[in-house]
Amino acid sequence: MKKNYDVTIVGAGPAGATLAYELAKKGIGVLLLEKEKLPRYKCCAGGVTSKAARLLDFDISEVAEDVIHEVSFTFNLGSPYLGQHTQPLMYTVMRDVFDHFLVKRAQGLGAVLMDGQKVTQVQVSGDWVEISTDDSAFRSRLVVGADGAYSIVAKELGMGRSIEYLMGIESEIVVPEEELAKWKSRAQLDLGCIPGGYAWIFPKRDHLSIGAGCHASRARDLYARHQKFLDSLNIGSYTIARSGSHLIPTCTKGRLVWQNKALLLGDAAGLAEPLTGEGIHNAIQSAQLAAAVIEGSLVSGEVELQDYQEAVDKKIMSELRIVRVLSKFFIRFPHLAFGMLNQGDALWRALCGLMLGEIDYAAIKGRAGGFKGIFKRLLRA
Ligand SMILES: Cc1cc2nc3c(=O)[nH]c(=O)nc-3n(C[C@H](O)[C@H](O)[C@H](O)COP(=O)(O)OP(=O)(O)OC[C@H]3O[C@@H](n4cnc5c(N)ncnc54)[C@H](O)[C@@H]3O)c2cc1C
Repeated sequence: MKKNYDVTIVGAGPAGATLAYELAKKGIGVLLLEKEKLPRYKCCAGGVTSKAARLLDFDISEVAEDVIHEVSFTFNLGSPYLGQHTQPLMYTVMRDVFDHFLVKRAQGLGAVLMDGQKVTQVQVSGDWVEISTDDSAFRSRLVVGADGAYSIVAKELGMGRSIEYLMGIESEIVVPEEELAKWKSRAQLDLGCIPGGYAWIFPKRDHLSIGAGCHASRARDLYARHQKFLDSLNIGSYTIARSGSHLIPTCTKGRLVWQNKALLLGDAAGLAEPLTGEGIHNAIQSAQLAAAVIEGSLVSGEVELQDYQEAVDKKIMSELRIVRVLSKFFIRFPHLAFGMLNQGDALWRALCGLMLGEIDYAAIKGRAGGFKGIFKRLLRA
């Protein structure tokens, strides 16, 4: 016999785990289905900005590998611009540990996790949604797709996919102790070596996460360029402990994130940022927006699921629209962005404000006098 739940969430990444946590906190019966056995590896640089960490009502420092206070920007690995801040700008995490930590928080409040359960079919049938995995079947009043870039929920329910993709490559690089020590609290971003994108170095407790990303349409040479970047770094001998690539979905205008009895979150909804590829913040934020709407809809019956679309449009899509315009410029003229960093600390202060969550892109655009103002400043640089 099928077991019934109020809400079934497909995917136990930051989006699904956060929603499970928020719903369990409200006493709503929630089932979290994950295809992998947890903890599972996720191809990701593992940068959790302070802005993202602050969304959570618990501390993540026990799963942080390092705390970033400095970012070194280079152009084609030339002389760096070093930005520093007294406050933590970003935490680095390993996603297997971080995501599992979020899931355990949700389980602690009563959410039910079933891992090793790959969802293969989702069907709305009368008042229920029927969800099938390889060996089980479940019913619930609502289904939520938090199942990442290749969302089966979006596919099964035919939810519109006006999405563009970035491609990211990530390698976990083991370096000698003395080399690792040099990177403590410091990340590096190189703007010149990946056409249409950038390369990064994020320090972890016992290794460096080094990767590269760009728009998927320009990713043909990404592996070769990533390897060249690795070889050009002055890090002595190194071993690649693990390497992989993954798509990062970022939606274009008009993305529908809800349907009768279904919502999409995080990467499944295409909510990653088109400039940096940062997706954890919007995964968590979309889950929190969804939790409020689901509670209103299931408990009081006064809220329509379509209110989730309005909340996502207002809080997330409006920001993504601004970033998309900016990214077109930065991607074409990365040397201008680098030049602007070197002209004074205005751009660095703006970047810190964004990472700390003190300002958003809309505020930056407003202060600069619109896109025209931003582009004028860049051209002056
Ligand atoms: C190389 C690279 C580097 C990145 N670096 C960063 C970074 O530093 N900071 C940042 O903020 N973002 C980064 N991102 C983006 C970030 O990884 C994603 O935006 C984020 O993971 C989205 O979270 P999510 O919960 O929506 O989806 P995911 O984390 O992808 O989780 C989806 C979950 O659903 C499960 N699933 C999928 N299909 C099924 C199914 N059929 N049945 C059951 N379960 C299923 C998956 O196994 C997975 O656990 C990076 C991405 C890449 C590719």
